[in-house]
Amino acid sequence: MNLRRLDTIGEAEEILDYVLDQGINLIDTARAYNGTNGSGQQVESEVLVGKAIGRRTDLDEPIVVVTKGHGYTLDELDKDLSTSLNKLGIQGRGDLRIGSSAVRLVYFFHGINDDRWQTIRGSGVLDKIQELKADGVISHIGFSSHYGDKDAIKAAVDTGIFEVVELPYNIFNRSLGEDGELDLLRYCSEAGLGIINMKAFGGNGMVPIFDSLQSYVNIDHQTMLNFCLTNPHIATVDAGAQYVSEFSADIETAVGERFGPEEMAALTKEADKISDDLKDICRECLHCLEKFSCREGIDFPRILALYSRHMIGRKVGKDTGELAAEYRQLAVDAEACTECRECIPWCEYDLDIPNMLKEAHRVFAG
Ligand code: SF4
Ligand code: SF4
Repeated sequence: MNLRRLDTIGEAEEILDYVLDQGINLIDTARAYNGTNGSGQQVESEVLVGKAIGRRTDLDEPIVVVTKGHGYTLDELDKDLSTSLNKLGIQGRGDLRIGSSAVRLVYFFHGINDDRWQTIRGSGVLDKIQELKADGVISHIGFSSHYGDKDAIKAAVDTGIFEVVELPYNIFNRSLGEDGELDLLRYCSEAGLGIINMKAFGGNGMVPIFDSLQSYVNIDHQTMLNFCLTNPHIATVDAGAQYVSEFSADIETAVGERFGPEEMAALTKEADKISDDLKDICRECLHCLEKFSCREGIDFPRILALYSRHMIGRKVGKDTGELAAEYRQLAVDAEACTECRECIPWCEYDLDIPNMLKEAHRVFAG
């Protein structure tokens, strides 16, 4: 996902080559992970991942490629899946390959929520995806979902057709795990699903907020990663590293020792000094802009990011004056919001975007 956040295609190729050199055998991408990089080049994650695998002749085990589509109806599924196969360069049936390398394709319904689950259940795509697997077009069936969609997650698992799930969980938000009414991580793993943990660092745009937090809680990135890896239900963590240096630090943690129960309890207590304040902030992930833009021209994730940094900065005693200055430079500010609420379903964290915009304007312009 983060390949689009880099400055150049060369940087994207560098990290992809690096992870394959390290023996990493799972890469997570999606049809929607597209964007413009720092040099203004259009980036399609699936294309870069496909090319990176395709140029190798030395991979000694199949690479597990996870990709995701918003194919909730038969037509959408057909279109999204064939585009993904084409962009990744996957060929064959059963014995899938990219170039000369064997791959296993795990195909996900991307971002299942309650509404999308209703569509999926009634549209015939669940039968279709099983046929595609039986025909060897894909290798495994999965879905991803988010914190606010517990009912949909359980309902999807209960169908018995899914083999892999990607869910958010981290030291500051354990609501899909041990803090939930139902520990969904446990539930999924006991149902036999492989769990890929996303948002182990709270979301991929959390760096500026995390910098503030470090003066307040004694938890660093590698501690966050190890916390997730220590959870016995998690099969792997989708760490989302952007740079080789980040990835090599993650590998060092992954091959190191896991925490014991006492360390886990102490870390949980430390994290809970700030956990509540992190619940309703913008993680700057930009997922909302993958398929949506505000018709009033409001760059709402930008404003929410400034506001969220301000809230956390205030909590930890940091001067946030420069955030207000940045807000006042915006061509369209939060006052332009008509409260149509069309943006809300596109936010992975179900943020009440119009209300947050109102608050942001009060704080920054008031
Ligand atoms: S609620 Fe406001 S920010 Fe969201 S789409 Fe409508 S006008 Fe834009
Ligand atoms: S508004 Fe929601 S989806 Fe958009 S960047 Fe913020 S947290 Fe991510």
